[in-house]
Amino acid sequence: VPASRTAEGATPAMAQWFAARAQHPGALVFFRMGDFFELFFEDAHQAAGLLGLAVSHRGEHRGEPIPMAGVPAHALEGYLARLIRAGLRVAICDQRETPEQAKARRAPTIRREVVRLVTPGTVTEDALLDGARPAWLLALCPGDGAVGAAWADLSTGAFRTELLPETEMAALLARLEPAELLLPEALEAHPALAPWAALATLADTPRDAGRALAGFFGVNTLDGFGSFAPAELAAGAMALHYLRATQGEAAPRLRPPEPAGGGSTLRMDAATRRSLEILRSERGDTRNCLLTAVDRTLTGAGARELASRLSCPLAELAPVAARHDAVAALLADAPARATVRAALKGAPDMARALARLSLDRFAPRDLAALRDGLARAERIAEGLRDRGLPPLLAEALLALVPEASPRPELDRALAETLPARVEDGGTVAPGYDGELDALRRLRDDGRSAIAALQLDLAQAWGVASLKIRHHQQFGYLAEMPAAAGEKLLRAPPAPGPMAPVHRQTMANAIRFTCAALAELDRKLAEAGQQASKREALVVRHLRDLCLRAGFGIDASAAAMAEFDIHAASAELAAGQRWCRPDMTERAEFCIIQGRHPVVEAALGRDRARAAAFVPNDADLSPGRRLCLLTGPNMAGKSTFLRQNAIMAVLAQAGLFVPAQRAVIGLVDRLFSRVGAADDIAGGRSTFMVEMTETAAILNQATARSLVVLDEVGRGTATWDGLAIGWAVLEALHDRIRCRAVFATHFHELCALTGKLPELAPATMKVREHRGEVVFLHQVAPGASERSWGLHVAKLAGVPREVVARATAVLAALEERARGLDPLAGEMPLFARAVPVATAEEAGEDPLRAALAAIDPDTLTPRGALEALYRLKGLE
Ligand code: ADP
Repeated sequence: VPASRTAEGATPAMAQWFAARAQHPGALVFFRMGDFFELFFEDAHQAAGLLGLAVSHRGEHRGEPIPMAGVPAHALEGYLARLIRAGLRVAICDQRETPEQAKARRAPTIRREVVRLVTPGTVTEDALLDGARPAWLLALCPGDGAVGAAWADLSTGAFRTELLPETEMAALLARLEPAELLLPEALEAHPALAPWAALATLADTPRDAGRALAGFFGVNTLDGFGSFAPAELAAGAMALHYLRATQGEAAPRLRPPEPAGGGSTLRMDAATRRSLEILRSERGDTRNCLLTAVDRTLTGAGARELASRLSCPLAELAPVAARHDAVAALLADAPARATVRAALKGAPDMARALARLSLDRFAPRDLAALRDGLARAERIAEGLRDRGLPPLLAEALLALVPEASPRPELDRALAETLPARVEDGGTVAPGYDGELDALRRLRDDGRSAIAALQLDLAQAWGVASLKIRHHQQFGYLAEMPAAAGEKLLRAPPAPGPMAPVHRQTMANAIRFTCAALAELDRKLAEAGQQASKREALVVRHLRDLCLRAGFGIDASAAAMAEFDIHAASAELAAGQRWCRPDMTERAEFCIIQGRHPVVEAALGRDRARAAAFVPNDADLSPGRRLCLLTGPNMAGKSTFLRQNAIMAVLAQAGLFVPAQRAVIGLVDRLFSRVGAADDIAGGRSTFMVEMTETAAILNQATARSLVVLDEVGRGTATWDGLAIGWAVLEALHDRIRCRAVFATHFHELCALTGKLPELAPATMKVREHRGEVVFLHQVAPGASERSWGLHVAKLAGVPREVVARATAVLAALEERARGLDPLAGEMPLFARAVPVATAEEAGEDPLRAALAAIDPDTLTPRGALEALYRLKGLE
């Protein structure tokens, strides 16, 4: 709304709209008018475009018509969903009294106020949420050279905090994938947050954060929940403040904050997550990612927990082993697993139902969700009683059935079929509340009294076709065909309680009332109102009952999710022949017949190719910590690199792994650099990105880390690249001493095998069959004898004469390069070898040779320009 437009001269209702608009400048205002939510001015145009609404006009403001678009109030959720997904925020300005109340206090219009701000990080409706992923609101607050982070999921009540170095901010964002980000102004322009800018909302850093949090959780001090740094508290208070501000009067339901500082976790940066495609594919979709490939959970809560575990695996032996014990138990005991999964299938989402109850934004089905969810939990508890369960499951079993469970009460209280909304009536079953039953009886008796009166009136007025009908606006009226009505009007019966009073004439019917009918109508309406009032009271009692048991229900829901995850992992292990990894504290890593779950699933789907995934071993044990992998493109190098990194993620998240056998020494940090490294949006060249990421590894990896690296140095000129790859390999080997798989197309690096004792060369097996290349996708010890680039070029359809020419040039180059042993001399050797000069000396056409030597896929923009100048120079 342009600043020039003021509320001056507005009608009383529009003045309320202007107030709401001024209060929430960043949001679309949904303004309740009767059965509709209306949008005005620019809001109307913006929403109309996104929601496909027609823009009309309503009245004038300062001589100009007011543009207006509206949505029916009952369909609000669907429209909100679309706006929230488009990244917008919505202020709901609702009516706070009835027209009668407004009239009684002689107000010019009904009182309206913003009751809620709907934002991507503060929604609780199923239609606005992804059932399988958490919806984090993340607050960040700098302080003491670090950053305090607090993240809350209003839809489940989860609330966590962490203090982290500023350099880890990007990794945290990549891990949580928040729905909304709360920032103080100081962080607004931080480069690490730039990719998330669209989610950001500015917030003030609160004063007295600790006190605010303690006050909200009703404790004197937060010490009982753990120890928090001031910046963590500030971020926590920011999140809490925002949640409260957006929810109007309803109090958000949050569990006390959990500081994440305790247990250690497997650290992964944003690039590693992207490269391993943990929660989404490199393209950004959620279909072809690790989570989707391994997810066999049956409930939303289970799926959310699995997503959290995969994005934050552990790095401690005991808790990882405890999870593996749980999976192993459910793998061994198929009947127990079947019992668990049968009870979980179709189980409702208790955590989210509870959140809606607490925010007073619930429907009868949310009460039913708790009833049914708790009943399912009881079934699991029954089914697994007296089975020797490993500690994690035994503990979960105890939590399944809360003390003072509201389930029996809900069972008795809720009607068999429930209405969509509490206001519709019929939530409470007959027989649960005596008073409600009595009021309902009164109402129903009234209905039979109406039937009786209909007969009496038909007789008294002499109109057999008379019918008493109920109208929304006028209540009960006696209706008859026009001819009979006219006659009655001309010759009315004697005065008395049954004397007809004309109310309405329509095209072919006339409606009457009389004193007796009016009286009955009043009584009936009263009984109906009283019954719904009473029912609302009963429903409120049920809600309070559930909220009082809230922590127990939370625990039960978490226990169900725990069972879901482990049963799902066991199911996966059983169906796909996964094994329990042997976890140790030593720096070892040995996989027998490992597979890549996503590629394997994709191959399985691709019936036309009917290709089977070829399993591969990997051994990074002491003495052979570094695997140097060579082989042509398309032979399966990236798949092999990724599958080994994924092994560590799955194992430390507590799942089994896709292998015949696996021994994995705990990994503290995982680095994966495989696949595209372009940063088009960030404006950095491929090579710059590659070097930045390589720098990150060399600066952060430890002897307990696992590194998988693809083609370091591919983004620059050949000799540069070889030199950099060489130096990185040496650093990993000598200084960092981590486990690593290093893929390269520089065969020259294999010469290092003799010099670096921990280096074990491996190559992707390729068979040549009548001049064609067949990729076997098999990793074998040793170095690749030759480069297969030209074969791949042929496969890709590079014209035959170019491939032939390249073959000739290659032969010349190889001839020239013979005797160039980098180990024999020192670096200057590299400088001598300039491919173009070589070709010239060999008496070839230098222009063609130079052209053939260019690999456009590996050139940086700058390199391309330089190449062009070089070619021009040779012309
Ligand atoms: P590279 O990194 O060597 O270019 P990729 O790892 O991208 O090769 O693999 C290319 C394709 O080969 C994959 O998309 C997949 O279809 C197939 N592939 C890779 N590894 C295997 C395997 N172990 N078994 C079967 N097919 C594989």
